[in-house]
Amino acid sequence: MKKKLIAGNWKMNGSLAANETLVKSLLAGMGTPACQVALCVPSVYLAQLQALVAGSAIGLGAQDVSAHDVGAFTGEVSGAMLREFDVRYTLVGHSERRQYHGETDAVVASKAQRALACGLTPIVCVGETLAEREAGKTEEVVKRQLAAVIHANGHCISEIVVAYEPVWAIGTGKTATTEQAQQVHAVLRSQLHAASNQADRIHILYGGSMNAANAAQLLAQPDIDGGLVGGASLKVPDFL
Ligand code: PEP
Repeated sequence: MKKKLIAGNWKMNGSLAANETLVKSLLAGMGTPACQVALCVPSVYLAQLQALVAGSAIGLGAQDVSAHDVGAFTGEVSGAMLREFDVRYTLVGHSERRQYHGETDAVVASKAQRALACGLTPIVCVGETLAEREAGKTEEVVKRQLAAVIHANGHCISEIVVAYEPVWAIGTGKTATTEQAQQVHAVLRSQLHAASNQADRIHILYGGSMNAANAAQLLAQPDIDGGLVGGASLKVPDFL
């Protein structure tokens, strides 16, 4: 059985001093973790984190990657650049990027493609808004978002990680019930099975106000292979 993957998403939080304290405390408290661990940090801190997590069980992650290889794309960071800092994972299609930066399914699919081409594992985020859930469109939306990535990445699809993050649960303190989360994970799992005979390898994470109190129950679901943790990843005891 594959190990669970717990990935922290620091979002736009941190400072040189705070990062050092946080990572050193995590490393001190973590021992040999029973799961895989990743931290997705702001790109300006990648060099600092590269040094802090070197040789540890923490895999380094970015929060975004350019869909382009190189060139006139001011403000963007390429997959090759991320690899220079030993980055292993990158989020793609986080709902905050879809919402505030207009990232479409096609852009997200291209970003996942670039990440894979550079040897990074894209953590592809999908999820419905509250309006979409209330309109009974949850399944349609997450399948459409994932289909774009499957279509662009063909046989490489077993190399991705998927994160189901209902938009209404991100940073709101509202968590999907275990039944709601498991139901969507099962849908995504069968979509991945239809696309790849290696789909069992793919981690499908739950994200959306996961915390110390609700993680165990969510992680006990058969199709929940880990968590993408925002706010609680900034608090040492909660993340541990
Ligand atoms: C996230 O940013 O991906 C996330 C799940 O945030 P939070 O845990 O704070 O809801």
